[in-house]
Amino acid sequence: MIKIDHLVKNYGANRAVDDISFEVAPGEIVGLLGPNGAGKSTTMNILAGYLSSTSGRVLVDGLNVLDQPLEVKRRIGYLPEQPPLYLDMTVEEYLIFVYNLKGCTLNRTKHLQEICEVVKLTDVYKRLIKNLSKGFRQRVGIAQALIGNPPVIIFDEPTVGLDPKQIIEIRNLIRTLGRDHTVILSTHILQEVQAVCDRIIIINKGRVVADELTENINRVGASCNRYQAKICGPQREVLSMLRDRSDVVFAEALSARDGEAYVYHIESTKGIDIRKSLFYALSAKGWPLIGLETLGMNLEDIFITVVDKTDDAAEGRKQRRTGKKGPSRSAEKDIAQSILDATAAKQESIAPYEGDE
Ligand code: ADP
Ligand code: MG
Repeated sequence: MIKIDHLVKNYGANRAVDDISFEVAPGEIVGLLGPNGAGKSTTMNILAGYLSSTSGRVLVDGLNVLDQPLEVKRRIGYLPEQPPLYLDMTVEEYLIFVYNLKGCTLNRTKHLQEICEVVKLTDVYKRLIKNLSKGFRQRVGIAQALIGNPPVIIFDEPTVGLDPKQIIEIRNLIRTLGRDHTVILSTHILQEVQAVCDRIIIINKGRVVADELTENINRVGASCNRYQAKICGPQREVLSMLRDRSDVVFAEALSARDGEAYVYHIESTKGIDIRKSLFYALSAKGWPLIGLETLGMNLEDIFITVVDKTDDAAEGRKQRRTGKKGPSRSAEKDIAQSILDATAAKQESIAPYEGDE
């Protein structure tokens, strides 16, 4: 549905987008995740035809944005970072204005009514936009993007400035839209992509540094071999018992307590799930295990590690990029590997147990 091919954008001497390539299949919800200044908005503006690129190609539904800008715009609904709302218009006036601007030919009343039901604007349809809360204004922005039923929707930081309840509502709305649209959204918020997107493309300093299915990233995070345990029993003895186990590489007691239980962080040998045997061992000692959870690496850890790693690994990245068009299978493998490497690097940073107390 969307193909971005070696896209470059320079602002004077500053390269905001530095050879970005990726494809988005119909029906995917893809999140562009990256710190501020990474080049997300620039990429989206080019994709939506609002900004020209320095070099590279953007195809939407097989159409080149440069050659057929109007055709492409007809296929894209765009919610920019700052939605261009006219505050002195009512919601109705504004949506009719956009409807006319887009040259939409669908039945106007019916179409706008349907959109307002989807984005829950019906109750404020006759109100002035300037009197609406930020959350409702954002809905108006989304509504204008949906006019004309474009198959592709692009949201730039759709939940910035909203309160937690509004954020959840907008995320749910995006997920609903994702059922019958191709959606690209950008965000610097990790939970947002994790909550909404099928696939995550991490961008840093104008480059794609990771491109993975969210479920794969979650799996990498979950496959981590660190645990937090709450154990009733004498702290020193429990700790030395944990450290004596051959399948435990690290154990420490935290200062936190839960009633009479002490809290411990435990790291097992890679690939070994200690949960069952730990339960039986503690039970045999008469030390009740009252809590045990896996401390997966969260997306934040993975993200920071990937970004840090790619910040000073320009060489490796160059090698990875040479001669490849778009995300080929082996490039995807590289990316998966780089996420796994990042996970391993993170785990190595936990000092191995040296018998100190
Ligand atoms: P993001 O949306 O990921 O925060 P942007 O695409 O807005 O990042 O910006 C990427 C880089 O390009 C930043 O360094 C930013 O300062 C620069 N930039 C963005 N817009 C302009 C502009 N109109 N003129 C000059 N530099 C710009
Ligand atoms: Mg931005």
